[in-house]
Amino acid sequence: MADKPDILTDTLGRKHNYLRISITEKCNLRCTYCMPAEGLPLLPKKHLMTCDEIYSIAQIFVKYGVNKIRLTGGEPLVRKDFTKILERLTSLPVDVSLTTNGVLVDRYIETFKTYGISTLNVSLDTLQADKFVTITKRDQFKQTYQNIQLLIREGFDVKLNVVLMKDFNEDEITDFVALTRDLPISIRFIEFMPFNGNKWDKSRLVTQKEILERVAEHFGENGLFPLKIEANATAKNYKIAGHKGTFGIISSVSNPFCDSCNRIRLTANGKIKNCLFSNDELDLLTPFRDQQPLEELIAKAIFNKKAVRGGMTTFDQLNDPKNHNQNRSMLAIGG
Ligand code: SAM
Ligand code: SF4
Repeated sequence: MADKPDILTDTLGRKHNYLRISITEKCNLRCTYCMPAEGLPLLPKKHLMTCDEIYSIAQIFVKYGVNKIRLTGGEPLVRKDFTKILERLTSLPVDVSLTTNGVLVDRYIETFKTYGISTLNVSLDTLQADKFVTITKRDQFKQTYQNIQLLIREGFDVKLNVVLMKDFNEDEITDFVALTRDLPISIRFIEFMPFNGNKWDKSRLVTQKEILERVAEHFGENGLFPLKIEANATAKNYKIAGHKGTFGIISSVSNPFCDSCNRIRLTANGKIKNCLFSNDELDLLTPFRDQQPLEELIAKAIFNKKAVRGGMTTFDQLNDPKNHNQNRSMLAIGG
């Protein structure tokens, strides 16, 4: 039998073995950096991938080398057939994980255990209840925080995603790192990224240097250790001596990790996106419904992947709103 074509390796030799699937554009929070202020028109249900379609399209990616799938959204746990999707995807030979805002996590503890989900990324941008309302427009801090503690108690490996924004939460950097003293979690500070309608401005970025300076000042320079960089890692990780957990910095904007990128994204309406920063998308769902093979389309999307940040090589290009106004909000891409 002839060898399978290598459709998931791009022109720069990057192998794409990690598929992030957005399973819904709906969300029970309204994070201002993620959702445009005017809201987002919901896609008609018939344009969304069904559970069977998610499974079948994922199966094609797995056949060609994907061995890791992350479910995201919108909020993946608001999708009514979430458990069914998890059941189908975990039957494939892949590592399945998910990114959630945590609000509904308590309803799914047994489901996660049944389907072998051991690691969850939970988003939480502040440890202050009033700020939580400001950023998410919903009064769910207590529920989210309790659910994070529940996950830890139940033995899940929890990564906490914190989007840092100047004049909003950079004063909480050391509070988040202090959580790692007694909790075995990893805090991941994420740079605020530009998307259609999220009022991004480079003056709102909190740099890696600034984060490390604040941490060193508070916890002492001698106790701060860099950890080994894993292959395809997006975060630079650190540990404070004696702390149970770790923290990391994901600087996709100022210091991208494009060289070792192994990610591809599938939007909830079945479009493949080869880069988070790219405006380009290629429809897989329509040809799939027309019973066309998807291999060539997937290969084309991978072939077209740019070397750095969807082709925005300079910071000036990134800073130019016309370069990201076409890029869907994170809610629609799935982060
Ligand atoms: N609802 C889930 C959640 O909030 O974790 C999953 C979807 S959310 C779009 C995935 C990740 O994208 C979250 O960690 C969120 O903080 C991050 N995100 C959204 N908009 C962002 C932006 N403009 N810059 C950086 N990260 C962003
Ligand atoms: Fe919803 Fe997650 Fe976007 Fe917040 S970051 S609005 S929780 S999808």
